[in-house]
Amino acid sequence: MKSWQLFRFGGPEGLRIEDTPSPVPGSHEVRIRVAYAGINPVDRSMIQGRFDFIRLPFTPGAEIAGRVEGVGPGVMEHTVGERVAVLPTLWCGTCRFCERDEPSSCLTNPYLDRAPQILGVSRPGGWAEEVVVPDHNLVRLPPEVSLETAVTFPVGGVAAHHALRRARLRPQDTVLVMGASGAVGGFAVQIARQQGARAFAVVSQPSHVAALKELGAEEAWVRTTPDLVQEIRARTGGLGADVVLDPLGASTFATSLECLAPMGRLVTCGILTGNRGEVDLTRHYSRQLEYIGSTTGSRSDLESLVALAANGRIKPLVQEWVPFASLPEGIAKLNQHGRLGKVVLRIQP
Ligand SMILES: [Zn+2]
Repeated sequence: MKSWQLFRFGGPEGLRIEDTPSPVPGSHEVRIRVAYAGINPVDRSMIQGRFDFIRLPFTPGAEIAGRVEGVGPGVMEHTVGERVAVLPTLWCGTCRFCERDEPSSCLTNPYLDRAPQILGVSRPGGWAEEVVVPDHNLVRLPPEVSLETAVTFPVGGVAAHHALRRARLRPQDTVLVMGASGAVGGFAVQIARQQGARAFAVVSQPSHVAALKELGAEEAWVRTTPDLVQEIRARTGGLGADVVLDPLGASTFATSLECLAPMGRLVTCGILTGNRGEVDLTRHYSRQLEYIGSTTGSRSDLESLVALAANGRIKPLVQEWVPFASLPEGIAKLNQHGRLGKVVLRIQP
């Protein structure tokens, strides 16, 4: 089978397509024939060398949808030919955090402080014609959900769903989504609306405002809007947002904090623009704010997304479908300013 292999950290020029042996599923593992694979910021970080413990050559690709092609010993729940989405999170299932449905804090992750334990980082990923994954990572797709839709869920969709779960979102809440032009933000707006909350969005380009309103945002503003804090307060009785979801990190951290209502919760679910921020503890204490970190999610997050899609309640935003052989161009598109939605690799539809 053909797979993309990273031979050196730095950029897409370190990647080559190679002929590699078909991977053999071990106990409680399944071989997937990959139909589509997402190209996500976490994959870019991996290529750049953020996770320097990875031994090269290595196949990246955290986000996978495809068909079951072979099952290892002990696999009872899945059969050859099934269409599935694959949760990237790797987890033991028995530690105190897995038992709480928080597998992204699984204690088997040796790098809990700095790296997720996921496909494409902790074991080979989906930028290949075939990949072997643990059987408990699969979520079967109902006939209503296509592989094209399902491939957008495991990274961006799960991150959004999990972040709102971490925020303990309630139907009476107001949510402000930073970075809403990206995959996480687009899903967060839709999921918040489905849970009955009011959603507002901050986007990178004026041309994205209409798209986010169509997804359910009550209002959307461009990130450079001078009085963003006043805008959100004006629409929330002067209070601000109960929940701010921020995948961008450093560049928006201060604004995100300012936008919070008393008792508000800021969920940091990405560090795309940097990993440092400053907190005014007086305000934090006086307004009784909460700062919450959220990384990838669990099977239940992925199952919820598939169920929402089956009922036509969420739809993915995809900017670009890229042929398998054009992966480096796909990674370049991920860096393009003004992108609206995801970049997806088409492998064996
Ligand atoms: Zn665990």
